[in-house]
Amino acid sequence: MSAPTAAQAMAAAAARLRAAGVPDPARDARLLLAHAASVDAARITLIAPEEIAPEIAERFEHLIALRAIRVPVSHLVGQRAFYGRDFKVSADVLDPRPETETLIELALADPFERVLDLGVGSGCILVTLLAERGEARGVGVDMSEAACLQASANAVLHQVAGRAEILQSDWFEAVEGRFDLIVSNPPYLAAEEMAQVAPELARHEPAMALTDGADGLSAYRVIAGQAQGYLTAAGHVMVEIGWQQGDAVQQIFRDAGWGRVTLAQDLDGRARVITASDPA
Ligand code: GLN
Repeated sequence: MSAPTAAQAMAAAAARLRAAGVPDPARDARLLLAHAASVDAARITLIAPEEIAPEIAERFEHLIALRAIRVPVSHLVGQRAFYGRDFKVSADVLDPRPETETLIELALADPFERVLDLGVGSGCILVTLLAERGEARGVGVDMSEAACLQASANAVLHQVAGRAEILQSDWFEAVEGRFDLIVSNPPYLAAEEMAQVAPELARHEPAMALTDGADGLSAYRVIAGQAQGYLTAAGHVMVEIGWQQGDAVQQIFRDAGWGRVTLAQDLDGRARVITASDPA
């Protein structure tokens, strides 16, 4: 009996993932075969007609079994692309998401020298900003020690570790000094929204990065209430929000006395980033 070709193995795997309710089964089968075979995903069509070696077939089978129980592809391959760079990820941190690139674009539109990232997670925001701004320095804080280690690893990987300080801290608790840019993608899902999220998130991403266990707005109250003590006079705060939180988060900042509060949309036209400056 001859071994299946790569194309046959991918088709069988895609059918299995489809049956398990995976949203994009063919794409995932291709990415995971590429990972199992240690080839670039873009080159997978080249090996499609070839029989796959038993050890690759075995690795692929294992990856597909995990994907079928909804382990995210990023966790299986160990990385996820964000703003043109690959970030190491794990179940300890929120996966970098494309909508967060909106915050990056906005942050890079103005100069900054010192940036603070609250809830640094994988480090994708802080590390990207430092990689894009070679003169800038930054501090990233997270409650989770495992996240701090992940962010540090990504800072090393992308060669900004000398300009990045990663601290375990409950929001501003361990932060000192002033920054001209404060950024955050905090947990913003409400407790009841957690019941509706995809299994990849609910089972395999850290709940503390996704939800405050309350109305989804707790982090914004802390940031709006305390950021002025850590901001330079001309500095500004930029936070990612859930697409239905635009009005509520703007109100939180206005109520806390911020003079200028604006809302920006992501590429899908959804409310995504609040910028606040001129605190009371
Ligand atoms: N954007 C995430 C999601 O869609 C939520 C992450 C967060 O709370 N910061 O699920």
